[in-house]
Amino acid sequence: MTEPFAVQRARMVERQLRARGIRSEPVLEAMGEVPRERFVPPDQHHLAYRDQALPLSRGQTISQPYMVAIMTEALQLRPGDRVLEIGTGSGYQTAVLCRLAAEVFTVERIPALAAGAQEILRELGCANARCLVGDGTLGWPDEAPFDAILVTAGAPAIPESLSAQLTVGGRMVIPVGPMQEQDLLRIVRTETGYSTQDLGPCRFVPLIGEEAWPA
Ligand code: SAM
Repeated sequence: MTEPFAVQRARMVERQLRARGIRSEPVLEAMGEVPRERFVPPDQHHLAYRDQALPLSRGQTISQPYMVAIMTEALQLRPGDRVLEIGTGSGYQTAVLCRLAAEVFTVERIPALAAGAQEILRELGCANARCLVGDGTLGWPDEAPFDAILVTAGAPAIPESLSAQLTVGGRMVIPVGPMQEQDLLRIVRTETGYSTQDLGPCRFVPLIGEEAWPA
């Protein structure tokens, strides 16, 4: 018999996240609450809590839970923060961010994915999420600056428009490097510039747009 999703979710948090070094209780709690099965295609429901990325439509992916946790923890969110996410995809990461920040602004370039995500986020009561269809490499200038920016697709370099939309003290987490493999970078805006920390290798679908890879 298939175990209830809540049981699978609790085990995912313990074995895939806490046991591997995710320490932030708010992040563990948020990921213990968000029903990942709602964000994966129906024929993948039974794989929702596997330790892997899963395919979405249009050649895109919903990231591995552990990667979602690493990226979210690295943002060091506070409850009053305003967050910009680039690459809504399924909306799963957005739902996690919504539990940890005051407002979440999320941009997706593929209209069908954005529409699907928006619908599920509404059904789950994520009232602090705002969704936009467009080129996220340009950020969301009308709502800038942001306390945190999360980019969930791989960029050839850090888009200048995004770093410019961070508050002083703001954190950005972004995969940067060639199409095949990137480094996960954590950038902090300081009074005088930016500091960068390399969190390790990762592999994401490409960030496509004016300040990233061409379409
Ligand atoms: N965070 C998502 C989730 O939880 O399902 C996974 C995102 S998927 C790895 C990367 C997403 O970035 C894709 O949906 C892709 O269409 C989107 N993307 C790529 N380039 C983009 C851009 N310039 N602006 C907005 N979205 C972009």
